[in-house]
Formats: sequence, C-alpha cells, structure tokens
Amino acid sequence: MAYETKALFRDDAYLSTAEGSVVAVNDRGGIILDSTNFYATSGGQPGDIGHFERADGSAIQIAATVTGETKSEIIHIPAEGQAALAIGEKLVLHVDWARRYRLMRMHTACHLLSVVCPFPITGAAVGDEESRIDFDLPDPSYTRENVTERLMEMVRANAPISTRWISDAELAGNPGLIKSKNVRPPMGNGQIRLVVIGEDGAVDSQPCGGTHVSETQEVGDIHIGKIEKKGKENRRFRIRFGSLPLL
Ligand SMILES: [Zn+2]
Repeated sequence: MAYETKALFRDDAYLSTAEGSVVAVNDRGGIILDSTNFYATSGGQPGDIGHFERADGSAIQIAATVTGETKSEIIHIPAEGQAALAIGEKLVLHVDWARRYRLMRMHTACHLLSVVCPFPITGAAVGDEESRIDFDLPDPSYTRENVTERLMEMVRANAPISTRWISDAELAGNPGLIKSKNVRPPMGNGQIRLVVIGEDGAVDSQPCGGTHVSETQEVGDIHIGKIEKKGKENRRFRIRFGSLPLL
C-alpha cells in the first residue's frame, strides 16, 4: 500500500527543521514519516539530504529523498550503517539547509530563464552548483551576455514569488502556462500548484511542485555559463552562481 506523507515543504519552503513520526520502514530500509520537510526528487529538482535527530540526541544520516509508489509517498533513504528506527518514533528533521537553499535559488533562476527565453523547454535539471535548461530555440541572438543581463535585471527587480492552486479545468483553459514539451503537470487529482512570480503573475506563472525563494533578489548573482548547440534548433543553457566572468 502507498502512504500519504504530509509535504511540509509545499506550504513553506523555508522549514529547515520540522518534526515527524515514523510510519513505516520499507524492505529496503527507506523511512516513511507522517510529515516531512525533506523535498523528494521530482520535476528536475534533486531530493534533500540531511539528518534525523532522535530523542536521545543521536543522528540518522539521510542520503536521499525520493517518491514511492505514488507522488505523495515520500521515502527517506538512510546512509549506510545507520541505526534502525521504531514505528511511531518521533524525530526532528534537519534538512542540509546550505545545499537546499542553493537549490531553491537555482530552481527560481530556472523559472526566470524560462521568462527570458520564452521557447519550448525540452529538458531541465536543477543542481546546487549548476542548472541547465534545453530549449527549442532557433534564434542565435540569445547570448550568454544578453541573457545574463536580463536575468540579473529580474533578480534586482525583486519580484515576490508565491504559490496558488488552480483546478485542472483552469489549467486546461490556459494551455500557455505549460512550457515543457515533455513534462506534463500532474493532471487528474483536481488541483495543480502554480508558482507565481510578480504581483498577480506579472512576471510569470507556471505549474511546479518544487521549492523556490520568496523574492527574486534572493537568487543573488547568477550568470549563463555556456550555451551549447544540441541540434539544429535546440540549445542548452547552463546557469551558474556568481557574476559573468570577464573573458
Ligand atoms: Zn519551480
């Protein structure tokens, strides 16, 4: 049977610690809790790592977080050699916050890049050092310099970022919200989470289940590291932290 984990990161991406109780440990040692602030790998964003603190103060190191049989079942994979947990045991959950915050900044930067480059997305991956997005983009006028400049204008404009839920019907009536050619948002459960940048989505709105910063200035200095031609009409953009290095 599949468990339903309460995904605390969905309502508050800034919960670096939270509490949870052990609901189950699967046959591969994966830990399932009643609720968690650990993001599970999904939508191009890697899952969280960190540790669980037990009542006696000892720690269980978590090496990965993934989804199980369904998207709402979240499984925490312990590192090798961790002690076994009891069902019902209460834990304090500590996300590796330095890493997660970088992922939130990078993930938000990917949304901004999809605004600067309003072309169909064919692939994307968020990383804590570097992210990439592949676009169907035949136009060679997009350079690392001018795209970096436009990204940083949006960072400095400090638009607020929020989420809201819309119905499947509302999404079906606004097909322009979907930018990815390959990844369809999860339809059919009646509700889609929309990530909204700017007042009333003045900058952007798109379906996304990931974690983001709450205003664009938190993204900080980023630049386009490299633009690779992946085919006649496909280009891969890499986003990196820091200012554009002078060549
Ligand atoms: Zn997102």
